Amino acid sequence: MKQPAIRAARKKLLAWYDKNKRDLPWRQTSDPYSVLVSEIMLQQTRVDTVIPYYHNFLQRFPDAQALCDADTEQVLESWSGLGYYSRARNLQNAARQVVRDHAGEFPQSSADLQKLPGVGPYTTGAVASIAFDRPEPIVDGNVARVFCRLFGIREDFRSTSANAKLWELAAQFAQGPRPGDLNQALMELGALICTPKSPDCPSCPLRARCDAFRVGDAESLPIRAKKQPSPKVSAVGVLALKDERALFVQRGARELLGGMWELPGGPLKKGESNAAGAKRVLGETLGLELRDVRHLGEVHHVFSHRELFLQIVKGTVSGRVQRQGFEAHQWRSARSLAQRAPNSLTKKALALALYGKGSKAKTVRKP
Ligand code: SF4
Repeated sequence: MKQPAIRAARKKLLAWYDKNKRDLPWRQTSDPYSVLVSEIMLQQTRVDTVIPYYHNFLQRFPDAQALCDADTEQVLESWSGLGYYSRARNLQNAARQVVRDHAGEFPQSSADLQKLPGVGPYTTGAVASIAFDRPEPIVDGNVARVFCRLFGIREDFRSTSANAKLWELAAQFAQGPRPGDLNQALMELGALICTPKSPDCPSCPLRARCDAFRVGDAESLPIRAKKQPSPKVSAVGVLALKDERALFVQRGARELLGGMWELPGGPLKKGESNAAGAKRVLGETLGLELRDVRHLGEVHHVFSHRELFLQIVKGTVSGRVQRQGFEAHQWRSARSLAQRAPNSLTKKALALALYGKGSKAKTVRKP
Protein backbone atom coordinates (compact mmCIF):
# COMPACT_ATOMS: atom_id res chain seq x y z
CA MET A 1 0.00 0.00 0.00
CA LYS A 2 1.43 3.38 -0.95
CA GLN A 3 1.61 6.32 1.45
CA PRO A 4 -1.59 8.05 0.24
CA ALA A 5 -3.50 4.76 0.54
CA ILE A 6 -2.16 4.26 4.07
CA ARG A 7 -3.18 7.80 4.97
CA ALA A 8 -6.69 7.11 3.63
CA ALA A 9 -6.88 3.78 5.52
CA ARG A 10 -5.75 5.51 8.75
CA LYS A 11 -8.44 8.13 8.38
CA LYS A 12 -11.19 5.55 7.89
CA LEU A 13 -9.90 3.44 10.74
CA LEU A 14 -9.77 6.35 13.18
CA ALA A 15 -13.29 7.47 12.22
CA TRP A 16 -14.54 3.93 12.75
CA TYR A 17 -12.71 3.70 16.10
CA ASP A 18 -14.18 6.97 17.37
CA LYS A 19 -17.67 5.62 16.76
CA ASN A 20 -17.24 1.99 17.74
CA LYS A 21 -14.53 1.60 20.38
CA ARG A 22 -15.45 -0.20 23.57
CA ASP A 23 -15.49 1.81 26.75
CA LEU A 24 -12.60 0.07 28.54
CA PRO A 25 -11.14 1.41 31.80
CA TRP A 26 -7.59 1.80 30.49
CA ARG A 27 -8.92 3.96 27.68
CA GLN A 28 -9.81 6.64 30.24
CA THR A 29 -6.18 7.40 30.97
CA SER A 30 -2.86 8.16 29.35
CA ASP A 31 -0.92 7.59 32.57
CA PRO A 32 2.01 5.39 31.46
CA TYR A 33 1.97 3.29 34.63
CA SER A 34 -1.74 2.44 34.18
CA VAL A 35 -1.18 1.76 30.48
CA LEU A 36 1.69 -0.57 31.32
CA VAL A 37 -0.36 -2.44 33.94
CA SER A 38 -3.22 -2.93 31.47
CA GLU A 39 -0.94 -4.02 28.63
CA ILE A 40 0.92 -6.54 30.77
CA MET A 41 -2.35 -7.94 32.13
CA LEU A 42 -3.84 -8.17 28.65
CA GLN A 43 -1.00 -10.35 27.41
CA GLN A 44 -2.55 -13.83 27.16
CA THR A 45 -5.66 -12.82 29.14
CA ARG A 46 -9.11 -11.83 27.93
CA VAL A 47 -10.39 -8.26 28.31
CA ASP A 48 -13.37 -9.13 30.53
CA THR A 49 -11.14 -11.17 32.86
CA VAL A 50 -8.62 -8.34 33.12
CA ILE A 51 -11.06 -5.52 34.02
CA PRO A 52 -11.62 -6.38 37.73
CA TYR A 53 -7.93 -7.23 38.21
CA TYR A 54 -6.92 -3.92 36.65
CA HIS A 55 -9.16 -1.93 39.02
CA ASN A 56 -8.06 -3.90 42.05
CA PHE A 57 -4.36 -3.72 41.18
CA LEU A 58 -4.41 0.05 40.66
CA GLN A 59 -6.31 0.51 43.89
CA ARG A 60 -3.66 -1.44 45.81
CA PHE A 61 -0.65 -0.13 43.88
CA PRO A 62 -1.69 3.21 42.35
CA ASP A 63 1.70 4.21 40.95
CA ALA A 64 5.22 2.99 40.27
CA GLN A 65 6.39 4.06 43.74
CA ALA A 66 3.63 2.08 45.48
CA LEU A 67 4.38 -1.02 43.42
CA CYS A 68 8.09 -0.58 43.98
CA ASP A 69 7.58 -0.47 47.77
CA ALA A 70 5.08 -3.35 47.92
CA ASP A 71 5.81 -6.78 49.28
CA THR A 72 6.22 -9.17 46.33
CA GLU A 73 3.90 -11.68 47.96
CA GLN A 74 1.11 -9.07 48.02
CA VAL A 75 1.74 -8.31 44.35
CA LEU A 76 1.51 -11.99 43.45
CA GLU A 77 -1.63 -12.29 45.55
CA SER A 78 -3.24 -9.47 43.53
CA TRP A 79 -2.29 -11.38 40.41
CA SER A 80 -3.76 -14.65 41.66
CA GLY A 81 -5.99 -16.14 38.96
CA LEU A 82 -4.47 -14.21 36.05
CA GLY A 83 -1.69 -16.78 35.56
CA TYR A 84 1.73 -16.22 34.00
CA TYR A 85 3.07 -14.87 37.28
CA SER A 86 6.39 -13.82 35.82
CA ARG A 87 4.40 -10.89 34.39
CA ALA A 88 3.66 -9.64 37.92
CA ARG A 89 7.28 -10.00 39.00
CA ASN A 90 8.47 -8.19 35.88
CA LEU A 91 5.94 -5.43 36.43
CA GLN A 92 7.21 -4.87 39.94
CA ASN A 93 10.82 -4.94 38.74
CA ALA A 94 9.91 -2.44 36.02
CA ALA A 95 8.37 -0.14 38.66
CA ARG A 96 11.54 -0.47 40.75
CA GLN A 97 13.65 0.45 37.74
CA VAL A 98 11.46 3.48 36.98
CA VAL A 99 11.82 4.67 40.57
CA ARG A 100 15.55 3.95 40.74
CA ASP A 101 16.68 5.14 37.30
CA HIS A 102 14.07 7.72 36.35
CA ALA A 103 13.00 9.22 39.70
CA GLY A 104 9.56 7.62 39.38
CA GLU A 105 8.77 9.20 35.98
CA PHE A 106 8.28 6.77 33.10
CA PRO A 107 10.81 7.22 30.30
CA GLN A 108 9.30 8.23 26.97
CA SER A 109 11.84 6.89 24.50
CA SER A 110 11.48 3.38 23.08
CA ALA A 111 15.11 2.68 23.89
CA ASP A 112 14.55 3.35 27.61
CA LEU A 113 11.13 1.67 27.73
CA GLN A 114 12.60 -1.50 26.23
CA LYS A 115 15.11 -1.69 29.05
CA LEU A 116 12.31 -2.24 31.57
CA PRO A 117 11.93 -5.89 32.63
CA GLY A 118 9.19 -7.72 30.74
CA VAL A 119 8.73 -4.89 28.25
CA GLY A 120 9.25 -6.16 24.71
CA PRO A 121 8.62 -4.48 21.37
CA TYR A 122 4.83 -4.77 21.62
CA THR A 123 4.55 -3.25 25.10
CA THR A 124 7.09 -0.57 24.21
CA GLY A 125 4.98 0.46 21.22
CA ALA A 126 1.79 0.38 23.27
CA VAL A 127 3.13 2.56 26.12
CA ALA A 128 5.01 4.96 23.81
CA SER A 129 2.05 5.50 21.50
CA ILE A 130 -0.86 5.38 23.97
CA ALA A 131 0.74 7.23 26.89
CA PHE A 132 3.08 9.56 25.02
CA ASP A 133 1.46 9.80 21.57
CA ARG A 134 4.66 8.72 19.86
CA PRO A 135 4.52 7.13 16.38
CA GLU A 136 5.68 3.71 17.56
CA PRO A 137 4.29 0.52 16.01
CA ILE A 138 2.66 -2.42 17.72
CA VAL A 139 1.91 -5.90 16.43
CA ASP A 140 -0.19 -8.23 18.54
CA GLY A 141 -2.36 -11.15 17.45
CA ASN A 142 -5.21 -8.87 16.39
CA VAL A 143 -3.00 -6.53 14.37
CA ALA A 144 -1.21 -9.48 12.74
CA ARG A 145 -4.55 -10.96 11.65
CA VAL A 146 -5.82 -7.66 10.23
CA PHE A 147 -2.58 -7.04 8.31
CA CYS A 148 -2.28 -10.60 6.99
CA ARG A 149 -5.77 -10.27 5.53
CA LEU A 150 -5.53 -6.66 4.42
CA PHE A 151 -2.20 -7.15 2.65
CA GLY A 152 -2.64 -10.78 1.65
CA ILE A 153 0.31 -12.16 3.63
CA ARG A 154 -0.05 -15.87 2.89
CA GLU A 155 2.82 -17.44 4.80
CA ASP A 156 3.21 -18.57 8.42
CA PHE A 157 2.62 -15.29 10.23
CA ARG A 158 5.11 -16.23 12.94
CA SER A 159 7.92 -16.74 10.44
CA THR A 160 10.80 -14.27 10.50
CA SER A 161 9.93 -12.83 7.09
CA ALA A 162 6.21 -12.39 7.86
CA ASN A 163 7.05 -10.87 11.23
CA ALA A 164 9.36 -8.33 9.59
CA LYS A 165 6.63 -7.41 7.09
CA LEU A 166 4.04 -6.99 9.85
CA TRP A 167 6.26 -4.66 11.90
CA GLU A 168 7.18 -2.65 8.81
CA LEU A 169 3.49 -2.18 7.95
CA ALA A 170 2.68 -1.29 11.57
CA ALA A 171 5.49 1.30 11.51
CA GLN A 172 3.98 2.87 8.39
CA PHE A 173 0.52 2.97 9.95
CA ALA A 174 1.86 4.53 13.16
CA GLN A 175 3.10 7.60 11.26
CA GLY A 176 0.56 10.40 11.33
CA PRO A 177 -1.88 11.98 13.76
CA ARG A 178 -3.06 10.14 16.90
CA PRO A 179 -0.67 7.14 16.76
CA GLY A 180 -1.93 5.77 20.09
CA ASP A 181 -5.54 5.77 18.93
CA LEU A 182 -4.51 4.35 15.56
CA ASN A 183 -2.75 1.42 17.22
CA GLN A 184 -5.74 0.81 19.46
CA ALA A 185 -8.05 1.09 16.44
CA LEU A 186 -6.13 -1.68 14.65
CA MET A 187 -6.39 -3.93 17.69
CA GLU A 188 -10.07 -3.05 18.15
CA LEU A 189 -10.83 -3.83 14.53
CA GLY A 190 -9.22 -7.24 15.02
CA ALA A 191 -11.18 -7.82 18.22
CA LEU A 192 -14.60 -6.69 16.96
CA ILE A 193 -14.76 -6.97 13.15
CA CYS A 194 -11.77 -8.80 11.69
CA THR A 195 -12.28 -11.70 14.08
CA PRO A 196 -10.56 -15.08 13.70
CA LYS A 197 -13.83 -16.74 12.61
CA SER A 198 -16.56 -15.14 10.52
CA PRO A 199 -15.05 -11.66 10.09
CA ASP A 200 -17.74 -9.05 9.55
CA CYS A 201 -16.28 -7.75 6.28
CA PRO A 202 -19.42 -5.82 5.24
CA SER A 203 -18.99 -3.60 8.34
CA CYS A 204 -15.24 -3.17 7.92
CA PRO A 205 -13.93 0.32 7.16
CA LEU A 206 -10.97 -1.19 5.25
CA ARG A 207 -12.79 -3.66 3.02
CA ALA A 208 -12.35 -1.61 -0.18
CA ARG A 209 -8.58 -2.17 0.04
CA CYS A 210 -8.56 -5.61 1.62
CA ASP A 211 -6.81 -8.36 -0.32
CA ALA A 212 -8.45 -11.22 1.58
CA PHE A 213 -11.91 -9.70 1.06
CA ARG A 214 -11.21 -9.43 -2.67
CA VAL A 215 -9.89 -13.01 -2.89
CA GLY A 216 -12.47 -14.39 -0.43
CA ASP A 217 -10.05 -16.28 1.83
CA ALA A 218 -10.17 -14.12 4.99
CA GLU A 219 -11.07 -17.01 7.29
CA SER A 220 -8.03 -19.01 6.21
CA LEU A 221 -5.68 -16.17 7.23
CA PRO A 222 -3.40 -15.76 9.06
CA ILE A 223 -1.58 -18.96 8.22
CA ARG A 224 -0.15 -20.80 11.21
CA ALA A 225 2.39 -23.56 10.90
CA LYS A 226 1.39 -26.51 13.08
CA LYS A 227 2.78 -26.30 16.60
CA GLN A 228 4.45 -29.24 18.26
CA PRO A 229 2.13 -30.70 20.94
CA SER A 230 3.05 -29.61 24.48
CA PRO A 231 5.09 -32.19 26.38
CA LYS A 232 3.24 -34.05 29.13
CA VAL A 233 4.93 -33.96 32.53
CA SER A 234 4.16 -36.22 35.50
CA ALA A 235 4.97 -34.89 38.94
CA VAL A 236 4.04 -35.41 42.54
CA GLY A 237 2.86 -32.85 45.12
CA VAL A 238 2.99 -33.88 48.77
CA LEU A 239 0.81 -32.83 51.68
CA ALA A 240 3.65 -33.47 54.14
CA LEU A 241 2.35 -33.39 57.71
CA LYS A 242 4.17 -33.01 61.00
CA ASP A 243 2.44 -32.21 64.31
CA GLU A 244 -0.76 -31.34 62.39
CA ARG A 245 1.04 -28.73 60.31
CA ALA A 246 1.73 -29.01 56.61
CA LEU A 247 4.93 -28.07 54.86
CA PHE A 248 4.93 -25.38 52.17
CA VAL A 249 7.86 -24.31 50.07
CA GLN A 250 8.54 -21.18 48.08
CA ARG A 251 9.93 -21.51 44.57
CA GLY A 252 13.08 -19.74 43.46
CA ALA A 253 12.45 -16.38 41.77
CA ARG A 254 13.79 -17.49 38.39
CA GLU A 255 11.72 -20.65 38.10
CA LEU A 256 8.33 -21.17 36.50
CA LEU A 257 5.79 -19.78 39.06
CA GLY A 258 8.77 -18.12 40.76
CA GLY A 259 8.19 -16.90 44.32
CA MET A 260 4.99 -18.90 44.74
CA TRP A 261 4.19 -20.92 47.86
CA GLU A 262 3.12 -24.46 47.11
CA LEU A 263 3.16 -28.05 48.31
CA PRO A 264 6.61 -29.60 48.07
CA GLY A 265 7.12 -32.03 45.24
CA GLY A 266 8.81 -32.55 41.93
CA PRO A 267 8.87 -34.54 38.70
CA LEU A 268 8.31 -38.29 38.77
CA LYS A 269 10.77 -40.55 37.01
CA LYS A 270 9.55 -42.86 34.26
CA GLY A 271 7.81 -45.89 35.78
CA GLU A 272 8.20 -44.59 39.33
CA SER A 273 5.21 -45.08 41.66
CA ASN A 274 3.63 -42.06 43.34
CA ALA A 275 4.78 -43.17 46.80
CA ALA A 276 8.33 -43.94 45.72
CA GLY A 277 8.53 -40.66 43.80
CA ALA A 278 7.19 -38.65 46.73
CA LYS A 279 9.69 -40.25 49.14
CA ARG A 280 12.58 -39.69 46.76
CA VAL A 281 11.64 -36.06 46.00
CA LEU A 282 11.20 -35.11 49.65
CA GLY A 283 14.48 -36.80 50.53
CA GLU A 284 16.40 -35.16 47.68
CA THR A 285 14.99 -31.64 47.94
CA LEU A 286 14.30 -31.31 51.66
CA GLY A 287 16.18 -34.07 53.43
CA LEU A 288 12.94 -35.40 54.93
CA GLU A 289 11.73 -38.95 55.40
CA LEU A 290 8.15 -39.55 54.27
CA ARG A 291 5.96 -42.33 55.74
CA ASP A 292 2.35 -43.59 55.55
CA VAL A 293 1.97 -42.33 51.99
CA ARG A 294 -1.57 -42.21 50.60
CA HIS A 295 -2.51 -41.23 47.04
CA LEU A 296 -5.35 -38.65 46.99
CA GLY A 297 -5.84 -38.08 43.28
CA GLU A 298 -4.58 -36.18 40.30
CA VAL A 299 -4.58 -32.53 39.31
CA HIS A 300 -4.37 -31.73 35.63
CA HIS A 301 -2.98 -28.31 34.73
CA VAL A 302 -2.15 -26.91 31.30
CA PHE A 303 0.65 -24.37 31.04
CA SER A 304 1.41 -22.57 27.78
CA HIS A 305 4.34 -24.87 27.09
CA ARG A 306 3.56 -28.07 28.97
CA GLU A 307 0.75 -30.20 30.35
CA LEU A 308 1.15 -31.22 33.96
CA PHE A 309 -0.32 -34.32 35.61
CA LEU A 310 0.28 -33.74 39.30
CA GLN A 311 -0.29 -36.69 41.62
CA ILE A 312 -1.27 -35.49 45.09
CA VAL A 313 -0.17 -37.69 47.99
CA LYS A 314 -0.34 -37.29 51.73
CA GLY A 315 2.04 -38.58 54.38
CA THR A 316 3.85 -37.80 57.61
CA VAL A 317 7.41 -36.60 57.63
CA SER A 318 10.30 -36.71 60.05
CA GLY A 319 13.70 -35.07 60.05
CA ARG A 320 14.86 -31.50 59.80
CA VAL A 321 14.32 -29.50 56.62
CA GLN A 322 17.54 -29.10 54.68
CA ARG A 323 16.45 -26.93 51.82
CA GLN A 324 17.76 -27.47 48.34
CA GLY A 325 16.22 -25.82 45.34
CA PHE A 326 13.61 -23.84 47.26
CA GLU A 327 13.70 -20.23 48.42
CA ALA A 328 12.02 -20.69 51.82
CA HIS A 329 9.74 -23.06 53.72
CA GLN A 330 6.99 -22.80 56.32
CA TRP A 331 5.03 -25.19 58.51
CA ARG A 332 1.49 -23.97 58.68
CA SER A 333 -2.10 -25.05 58.77
CA ALA A 334 -2.99 -26.26 55.27
CA ARG A 335 -6.39 -24.58 55.52
CA SER A 336 -4.81 -21.18 56.10
CA LEU A 337 -2.84 -21.44 52.87
CA ALA A 338 -5.84 -22.83 50.99
CA GLN A 339 -7.73 -19.61 51.80
CA ARG A 340 -5.13 -17.49 50.08
CA ALA A 341 -3.49 -19.90 47.67
CA PRO A 342 -1.46 -17.77 45.33
CA ASN A 343 -2.03 -19.53 42.01
CA SER A 344 -4.60 -21.75 40.42
CA LEU A 345 -2.37 -24.85 40.38
CA THR A 346 -1.80 -24.66 44.16
CA LYS A 347 -5.50 -23.91 44.65
CA LYS A 348 -6.43 -27.06 42.75
CA ALA A 349 -3.81 -29.13 44.58
CA LEU A 350 -5.02 -27.94 48.00
CA ALA A 351 -8.69 -28.38 47.10
CA LEU A 352 -7.91 -31.99 46.27
CA ALA A 353 -5.61 -32.57 49.25
CA LEU A 354 -7.96 -31.02 51.82
CA TYR A 355 -11.45 -31.49 50.49
CA GLY A 356 -11.10 -34.22 47.87
CA LYS A 357 -12.26 -31.74 45.20
CA GLY A 358 -10.80 -31.61 41.73
CA SER A 359 -9.72 -33.92 38.98
CA LYS A 360 -10.28 -37.58 39.48
CA ALA A 361 -7.14 -39.57 38.95
CA LYS A 362 -7.00 -40.25 35.22
CA THR A 363 -3.60 -41.84 35.05
CA VAL A 364 -3.29 -43.29 38.49
CA ARG A 365 0.10 -44.79 39.07
CA LYS A 366 0.65 -47.48 41.61
CA PRO A 367 0.39 -45.86 45.04
S1 SF4 B 1 -12.44 -6.63 4.97
FE1 SF4 B 1 -12.75 -8.40 6.25
S2 SF4 B 1 -10.83 -9.52 6.17
FE2 SF4 B 1 -10.43 -7.48 5.38
S3 SF4 B 1 -9.66 -6.36 7.12
FE3 SF4 B 1 -11.85 -6.01 7.01
S4 SF4 B 1 -12.80 -7.59 8.32
FE4 SF4 B 1 -10.67 -8.17 7.92
